[in-house]
Amino acid sequence: MLQSKLFTKVTKDAPKDEVSFNGKILIQAGFVDKLSAGVFTFLPLGLRVLNKICNIIRQEMDKIGGEEILMPVLVPKENWAQTGRWESFDVLFKLQGADEKEYALGATHEEVITPLGKKFVFSYRDLPIMPYQIQTKFRNELRAKSGIMRGREFLMKDMYSFHADQADLDRFYEVAKHAYYKIFERLGLGEITYLTYASGGAFSKYSHEFQTLCQAGEDIIYICDNCKIAINKEIIAEQNQCPICGNKEFREDKAVEVGNIFKLANRFSQAFDLQYLDKDGVKKELVMGCYGIGPSRVMGAIVEVSHDEKGIIWPKEIAPFQVHLILLGKKDSWEKNKAEADKLYEKLTAEDVEVLYDEREDKGPGEKFAEADLIGCPVRLVISDKTLAEESVEVKMRNSVDSKLVKINGLIKDLIK
Ligand SMILES: [Zn+2]
Repeated sequence: MLQSKLFTKVTKDAPKDEVSFNGKILIQAGFVDKLSAGVFTFLPLGLRVLNKICNIIRQEMDKIGGEEILMPVLVPKENWAQTGRWESFDVLFKLQGADEKEYALGATHEEVITPLGKKFVFSYRDLPIMPYQIQTKFRNELRAKSGIMRGREFLMKDMYSFHADQADLDRFYEVAKHAYYKIFERLGLGEITYLTYASGGAFSKYSHEFQTLCQAGEDIIYICDNCKIAINKEIIAEQNQCPICGNKEFREDKAVEVGNIFKLANRFSQAFDLQYLDKDGVKKELVMGCYGIGPSRVMGAIVEVSHDEKGIIWPKEIAPFQVHLILLGKKDSWEKNKAEADKLYEKLTAEDVEVLYDEREDKGPGEKFAEADLIGCPVRLVISDKTLAEESVEVKMRNSVDSKLVKINGLIKDLIK
């Protein structure tokens, strides 16, 4: 991508009307635009990152048998009424259609997926199933001051699993848990994301959150360093020892909830009278689980934990571009340098290396370097009079202060391996 063609621009200063760090820097670097509190447009750079996060999640869900669908945002009142959540779900966005029919914008989708399951699940042979979606969700939050970490409108991956019995739900729950570990590892958050014990509601002792350590997080978790798990604030009063090793010495820290998994048991199958015939032809109620991750929240959390005073430091797997190629030159050397940089850009692009190429003639080195640091691609390449005198390119990693000159011809092999 040529940086001159990018319709969004980096701005000199962070926006004053945004309080969160992730919101400020993502707006300044041109990843997102704020329409109103908790409501954001994902711009070209930001959408590239968001799509990469979604694809990692998608790949890991598909590996454990997930089948992707897309449910509607507009969910009729009668579906919510059937589970009692039209009244009890306090952040629902409610609205009325032209036909005077009432709806809520989906804040979660049990009220759609359960009646959907009823149309396709009849026998034990149809189970288990694990449909999921990546969909925009709406929550009528009173406060939305955490940038893209807490939106009124945000992206969510929600998977729902349907099982013949509790044993099969328990089995799959562990499979899903491990898929979540894998996702956070791939997102570069593995070391600082804790499986966190939370209240299980009426149907199981615990549910689990995935909490990423983050000073801007709204949650406090209590970590057992022996087991690398945590307990959330909600249950710490009744659970004063580690559920695995019995340790009572917890380390308190701030965190943001990036995912959660929950055994719903028969809460929704009962509400919608969802049953199946077992091997003996006997009608049985099935049990369900649900598994959420917020891709836009994950993106905000990564920015909060992976940056320095100059800007964002994206993990390789989700960076908007792997390489930020910067062309420098004086009036008399510009065309010659540009020819070399163009050639390198074409070669890298042909090898499927994603390159953001700053070929703008009206920007000086200082401004170009500052923008590259702010945007945060993992590898910075510079072509200038100085590097070309050595038939070389300057290579600098975003997470390192050192740079080195590498011969242009050898560079490509290094970058694509
Ligand atoms: Zn422990």
